[in-house]
Amino acid sequence: MKAARIHEYNKHVVLEDIPIPDIQPDEILVNVKACGMCRSDVQLVDGYFRPYADIPPPITIGHEIVGVVHKIGSTVPKSAGFEEGDHVVVVPGWGDGTCRHCQIGDTQICPNVRWPGFGKVGGFAEFVPVPARYLIKVDRQLKFEELAPLTDAGVTPYRGIKKLLNARALGPNRVMAVFGVGGLGLYAVQYAKILGCGAKVVAVARNPEKLAIAKEYGADHIISTRGKSAADVAVELKDATGQPDLDAIIDCTGAGAMIQLAFSLLSISGQYADVGLVGDRIDIPLFPRVSREQVLHGSFWGNYTDISEVLTLMAEGKIRHTLKIFSFDQINEQLDLLRTGNIVGRAVMKFR
Ligand SMILES: [Zn+2]
Repeated sequence: MKAARIHEYNKHVVLEDIPIPDIQPDEILVNVKACGMCRSDVQLVDGYFRPYADIPPPITIGHEIVGVVHKIGSTVPKSAGFEEGDHVVVVPGWGDGTCRHCQIGDTQICPNVRWPGFGKVGGFAEFVPVPARYLIKVDRQLKFEELAPLTDAGVTPYRGIKKLLNARALGPNRVMAVFGVGGLGLYAVQYAKILGCGAKVVAVARNPEKLAIAKEYGADHIISTRGKSAADVAVELKDATGQPDLDAIIDCTGAGAMIQLAFSLLSISGQYADVGLVGDRIDIPLFPRVSREQVLHGSFWGNYTDISEVLTLMAEGKIRHTLKIFSFDQINEQLDLLRTGNIVGRAVMKFR
């Protein structure tokens, strides 16, 4: 089968032919139809994660995976309801099933978690073996290329916004901002309107072209940060919404400058959730965060339930996608474009 693998960090991935992987009795072999490309694929190639998990090559990249059931392992129960030919979405974040996080469904923060796309098996390959309990069967009418990003780009901000909602940071007379409107942020804007309970939604980013799409997707206001100080942004925010600060922020960038801007604009008892990983440090003043009782939420990817929820929203036609479709042989070219921020929306590889 075709597979795109890292053989050496900081080099182009190698597009090659390798044997189709075997499956364990509790696994299903999925014939991959589409796989989204994530900034973390670029970061994996560039060695960003090596201080945290130094995965030995070869690594098959790709973790936003959808496909068709090709072969079912011998111990997969009939009650799971899978048949060959079913269309399935792969829930990433394969937990050990025994720890307290797995027991409540948060397998993506299991201390023994395994990820497709960060080891031997991944989605930029024609076949991937997946534990049956991490597959969700979907309607055959739904498009593979639209399903793929919902396993990361289209679920990660959803979980983050749910954290803000459950912490009661959202509601009428609140202002919520989405920082960054790339692959994740364009979904975040839509979820902010769906889950915001009437909060005004402001998209804050550098790129006017991406901000225009955010406006089209329901942002009440857009603010470009290009060439502006934090004070300039606060003035623009007040003109747009009537208040110079933000009650809730979902930060889809994680870039150092954006984090500083976010905390400088955060209201008393404001809440911030970060899901972007562009930078690798948070450097914010301590006293205002304590004295203003501001909350910083960690939110990582999404679990089976989160993904089921966004799939339902999609099936109901409530989610819009900005996609760039590419083919398997264009993987390196697309990684290079993503590295320099030159992708609008989500790039998705489709097998013909
Ligand atoms: Zn676990």
